[in-house]
Amino acid sequence: MATVDGVGGHSRKVEYFYDPDVGNYYYGSAHPMKPHRVRLTHHLLVNYGLYRQMNVFRPLKASKDELSRFHKDDYLDFLRLCTPDSEERYANQMERFNVGQDDCPIFSDLYEYCQIYAGGSLCAAARLNARKSDIVVNWSGGMHHAKKSEASGFCYVNDIVLAILELLKKHQRVLYLDIDIHHGDGVEEAFYHTNRVMTLSFHQYGDFFPGTGTVQDDGVKDGKGYALNFPLQDGLTDSTFRSVFRPVIDEVMNRFRPEAVVMCCGADSIAGDRLGCWNLTIKVGWHFHKKRTAQKVAHSSCRVCAHASIMRALYHERI
Ligand SMILES: [Zn+2]
Repeated sequence: MATVDGVGGHSRKVEYFYDPDVGNYYYGSAHPMKPHRVRLTHHLLVNYGLYRQMNVFRPLKASKDELSRFHKDDYLDFLRLCTPDSEERYANQMERFNVGQDDCPIFSDLYEYCQIYAGGSLCAAARLNARKSDIVVNWSGGMHHAKKSEASGFCYVNDIVLAILELLKKHQRVLYLDIDIHHGDGVEEAFYHTNRVMTLSFHQYGDFFPGTGTVQDDGVKDGKGYALNFPLQDGLTDSTFRSVFRPVIDEVMNRFRPEAVVMCCGADSIAGDRLGCWNLTIKVGWHFHKKRTAQKVAHSSCRVCAHASIMRALYHERI
């Protein structure tokens, strides 16, 4: 069994899902999103020997039925049928589904790519539901902008929403924690009406994509008070981030008491990112993981499903 030392000496089982084909999908030469980075991430883990601390699995591709738990059938059919060669025939639908422009282009085997990254998150959630793991990572996940019938911000299918829906089968309360520099709008919207999912997003705000996520946006009906937003300004440093993050996460864990946590760890908040404009270092993530969240999670027997947006994290680097 692959385990790592957790807080308080508890051994925690860590796993990750990786499909070697995911690096073959290509948004286009000028596009900042490069799934090839997921392959590089896996190779780094192998060559540093870190994979020995984790179980590594190849995910099953998400089926149409699984994707349609959140997404509309006509949108999924469009993603499956529209190809670079048939774009003209689908002009009307491309506009309707927000696909085909710079952010969300049509590229070869797009639907299969969605099946792979969504499959990783669904398989991760299933491992947690079956109590076979404590922490599961999907390097290729984290597509937090995708809506029910609309692509957005490089995201076509929302693997995070699908994973949370899966976790809700076995967990009464799920916390969604988003530390990507962009607001987690697609996930927030999906669970805006419910008190079983708390969405918590720390993001850049003010003339910045997607332009949502104010403090006043805090949910509706049963979900009132269960969507939390922390819009922040550019130039954020480790110490200022911690000063906001620490008290918030402490209160959230104490009051909401989630049974599972889903994290979107988009590292476009790290200094030097081509799209981001914060000055965080990787130490900030380590600090909060080691000292805060992991501690709380360990004490509450909570499980973690991390959608690492490692490819979103690394897309600023040129290869
Ligand atoms: Zn982002």
